[in-house]
Amino acid sequence: MSNIAFIGVGNMGGPMARNLLKAGHQVTAFDLSDAVLDPVLKAGARKGASANAAVKDADVVITMLPAGHHVRAVYLDNGVLGAAKKGALLIDSSTIDVDSARAVHTAAEKAGFLFLDAPVSGGTGGAEAGTLTFMCGGSDAAFEQAKPVLEKMGKKIAHAGGPGAGQAAKICNNMMLGISMIGTCEALALGEKLGLEAQKLFDIMSTSSGQSWSLTTYCPVPGPVPTAPSNRDYAGGFATALMLKDLKLAQTAAQSVGANTPLGAEAAQLYSLFAAAGNAGIDFSGIIRMLRGKA
Ligand code: NAD
Repeated sequence: MSNIAFIGVGNMGGPMARNLLKAGHQVTAFDLSDAVLDPVLKAGARKGASANAAVKDADVVITMLPAGHHVRAVYLDNGVLGAAKKGALLIDSSTIDVDSARAVHTAAEKAGFLFLDAPVSGGTGGAEAGTLTFMCGGSDAAFEQAKPVLEKMGKKIAHAGGPGAGQAAKICNNMMLGISMIGTCEALALGEKLGLEAQKLFDIMSTSSGQSWSLTTYCPVPGPVPTAPSNRDYAGGFATALMLKDLKLAQTAAQSVGANTPLGAEAAQLYSLFAAAGNAGIDFSGIIRMLRGKA
């Protein structure tokens, strides 16, 4: 059993912290919002008076925050790096820009801590079920120490490489997902206009060379995959705003290293239009409506 500080217990962090409690760890939680803290406290966590107070006695610190500037604010400038106890392992599971992740890595190393960037894939459903995929960046020592804790919240724990590699892997994956979802929607919408039945086109494409996760697990038209958000009018699932965030992170990263990502840039533009039309809260596969001209 470890003493774990969990900072940021929103949609993802809340269920992740609860899974750590279920596994028998002691958790001290802190969030700026009392509303999200409540269910974690009810599940047995102790309340930290601040981020710095929460980490004081922790063996492991986990952060699950919205963006890079929140992560910098929590760790740097008289933050957690000055308050955590010697030897604590620091893990940031937020999805943030690679530069912020590397800046916090460098500062943590200077302060004598092992630090891991460990963003996740799997959404709120995976967070609840404890089946997240963690993509980790950092030293072998940090990864090996973090693995048993991460295994209580996820089923696949991958070591992508050194500092920032977890964030890099996450945005590469989500850029590919954004592009492939748009491609899948375009093909299904074209098929509709050509008079094809969605189920028949699905049956053919899902066993042909165009097959993808966007089609076979997350089909953007209702019917062929009953668990996909398209069957619930695109409610729940992976919000368009979060897909757009990840596509923008991918573009920033691509510019910083001079990588050529024309389809990634186009996907960011299309999701930006879709979000601005009032769809930021619906599942990202709902972009098929815009591609049909009906958003
Ligand atoms: P969320 O907004 O529900 O939770 C973030 C929490 O951080 C909030 O409760 C907020 O009050 C808290 N917070 C912000 N600044 C803080 C500070 N200084 N100190 C303490 N708490 C602070 O967001 P989420 O959906 O849980 O996402 C968290 C991260 O996980 C994001 O980086 C997101 O991109 C990533 N992510 C989300 C999903 C998803 O499906 N929701 C999937 C994969 C990855």
